[in-house]
Amino acid sequence: MEKYERGRTLVIGATKIVLLTYITYRHLFALDGFTKFLVKEFNGNRCDICGKQFNPDSLQIHHKVQQQHGGGDNPENLVSLDQSCHAKADQFAEKGIDYEVAKYAIRNGLTPKQVLAQEYMSSNII
Ligand SMILES: [Zn+2]
Repeated sequence: MEKYERGRTLVIGATKIVLLTYITYRHLFALDGFTKFLVKEFNGNRCDICGKQFNPDSLQIHHKVQQQHGGGDNPENLVSLDQSCHAKADQFAEKGIDYEVAKYAIRNGLTPKQVLAQEYMSSNII
């Protein structure tokens, strides 16, 4: 009985250490495959920008709020994009343009430069 209790305490202790290590260092690991799978599946294996359906392997995961701006790996911050739309979305993100604005702009064939010019003009009208 005493031996069993000691064994149990050891197992619980080891599990806690593994979990704490995972929680502490998970940001160092790449986005896990299961989350990627869920995001693609949730979007019906479609690109969030052009809406076309793709083979899940050719869809990529994009952070709506970039990681360097505090965006996390939580599913609400992730969308699936095809390679072409992803490259465009990254160009908008680099210029600090919000994802929803970028999505609208890409769908309408606008460049980041045009969007920024538009924002500049509208903020100077009043
Ligand atoms: Zn697309």
